[in-house]
Amino acid sequence: MSRQAKATDRKLAVFPAFHKVEGQRVVVVGGGEEAAAKVRLLAETLAEIVVVAPRAEEVLLDAVARAGGAIVADPFAPAHLAGAVLVFAASGEEAQDTAVVRAAKRLGIPANAVDRPEICDFYVGALVNRAPVAVAITSTGVGPVLARHIRARIEAMLPRETGDLARLAESFRDTVARVIAGGVERRRFWARFFSGPIAGQLQAGRPDAARSEAQRLLNTRSGEGGFVWLVGAGPGAEDLLTLRAQRLLQEADVIVHDALVPEAVVAMGRRDAERISVGKRKGHHSVSQGEINAILVREASLGRRVVRLKAGDPLVFGRAGEEIAALRAAGIAHDVVPGVTAALAAAASTRIPLTLRGVASDLVFATGHDRDGETLPGWGAMALRGATVAVYMGRTVAARVADRLLGAGLSPATPVAVVENAAQRDERFFAGILADLPHLQDRHEIAGPTLIIIGEAVGHADLANSQPLRPVAAERAGVAA
Ligand code: SAH
Repeated sequence: MSRQAKATDRKLAVFPAFHKVEGQRVVVVGGGEEAAAKVRLLAETLAEIVVVAPRAEEVLLDAVARAGGAIVADPFAPAHLAGAVLVFAASGEEAQDTAVVRAAKRLGIPANAVDRPEICDFYVGALVNRAPVAVAITSTGVGPVLARHIRARIEAMLPRETGDLARLAESFRDTVARVIAGGVERRRFWARFFSGPIAGQLQAGRPDAARSEAQRLLNTRSGEGGFVWLVGAGPGAEDLLTLRAQRLLQEADVIVHDALVPEAVVAMGRRDAERISVGKRKGHHSVSQGEINAILVREASLGRRVVRLKAGDPLVFGRAGEEIAALRAAGIAHDVVPGVTAALAAAASTRIPLTLRGVASDLVFATGHDRDGETLPGWGAMALRGATVAVYMGRTVAARVADRLLGAGLSPATPVAVVENAAQRDERFFAGILADLPHLQDRHEIAGPTLIIIGEAVGHADLANSQPLRPVAAERAGVAA
């Protein structure tokens, strides 16, 4: 019994289809906002819009004018429906809408009545228009708000230029069919066509470059050359990925990622993409930078589309420079996609202003130690002049960082914030002063990636949700001393 019920639960009560309306008459009956909403929706199409309304409100007049439709200023009569392919009853009055639907049924014209699912022949989906591409979402009247929510997400996912891409593809279709014989090879061609540089050029507003890129792809047949995108994964929350990063993850054949990138983010990649973990984490250099470079070159040389996924932004302490050099040396096409770097994520979730009028007008992204493990003193001077300093990779060298800054003359009372696992579920926020900072490196329970923010601007944030940077035991010792 229950199994049967489930089987029907999975079936739709409607059949999704797209009705041709180009140059065809669609009639909307009604004079107010409901009718205006339908006119606005129809204005997304090439339908000939006719509105029947003895008294049209301003919103409707405006919508019809924008849509280039016509108004028949008479009380509704069935004759108004002659020649229509679709009818919308949108008067807001039950009796009137019922009469309109009845008249349509007699003429065999499918009808929709606003908010009256029981008498509708068809429903109107929430529309994402990327003409000639269209996505319509329906919840069959069960969850209109949910449908709109889904629509918003699809809107965000589908670049504006999706339609241009479809048209460009259309213009290449015959040639491709002629030039590329094999089905598999042709599929590969289209897979590359719809992603990578062609789509990228369109999105950048360069249709001519997109066309030459497409031509180049055709000339090199299936475009054997692979591609590497160095993609910023952001601080670890899935919804802090950029839309571009998300799209590329969906398109990649291979995803090469660091240990710092959480599994949930890597899992947003295409399901059948190959995943290569090059687990770089402090103290566990499982794969050397040279080996990573070699992996990127090798995979791209095999014609694969590679996403090199890096925590935060690839160009901020991400060793992207070395990877770019290797790709350039090997003549492999590549691009960089920015990401939300840890300092920005840490500041956002703790609401610390990184610059603040009259308090901090410089911002330094610094590293706790350079290549030889040395703490870099260069930014000490900037901190002294009031810059906010965001220190990456500073946890295990916190005492040295503090010493250097104190040595440079920064006050021990300078506010300091420490954010562990910024933007992730297990984020923790510690606050104190520069004199407390050395304790950080002894607090072994703080083991996640950690960002340190130093500067007067920190003191202007609401620190109520923070924990003390100075461990409780040390506080007591301090009191006793
Ligand atoms: N490219 C990265 C930085 C890589 S260096 C970016 O732009 O964010 C690694 C350091 O980044 C870590 O030692 C830590 O200081 C910082 N970091 C990365 N992710 C973090 C996070 N979610 N929370 C706090 N710090 C983070």
